[in-house]
Amino acid sequence: MENCLFCKIVAGEIPSKIVYQDDHVVAFEDIHPQAPVHLLVIPTRHIASMSDIQPDDGPVLAQIFTVAKQIAHERKLEDGYRFVTNVGPHAGQSVLHLHFHLLGGKPMGWPPFPPR
Ligand code: 5GP
Ligand code: ZN
Repeated sequence: MENCLFCKIVAGEIPSKIVYQDDHVVAFEDIHPQAPVHLLVIPTRHIASMSDIQPDDGPVLAQIFTVAKQIAHERKLEDGYRFVTNVGPHAGQSVLHLHFHLLGGKPMGWPPFPPR
């Protein structure tokens, strides 16, 4: 996909701190970390968002989650972590290439919006 930031990271055309890479999945450090551990885990194939996932994508999604839990173990996130994907403008999705945020290393708030 031309002009996709994360496709360019997969291709090595934009530098990033890659911590894991195979034919189907890449994990790299978020450029503006929101927690002591903040990585992005993405499919190498361009999928715009969770809304575009198809049944055939099952294996790559399983690999994304498997890579994420391995990294969580390596980063010693035994007290917990969050693995989240934003979809569309209400969720604040800013890059239209499916990505999951792996966040951890400090307590996080929930729910993600202030009570009325
Ligand atoms: P979203 O807001 O779409 O859920 O998440 C996009 C994430 O991509 C943000 O957390 C943002 O900091 C990160 N990001 C944006 N541009 C770059 C970049 O060029 N390199 C890296 N490593 N992360 C980026
Ligand atoms: Zn892409």
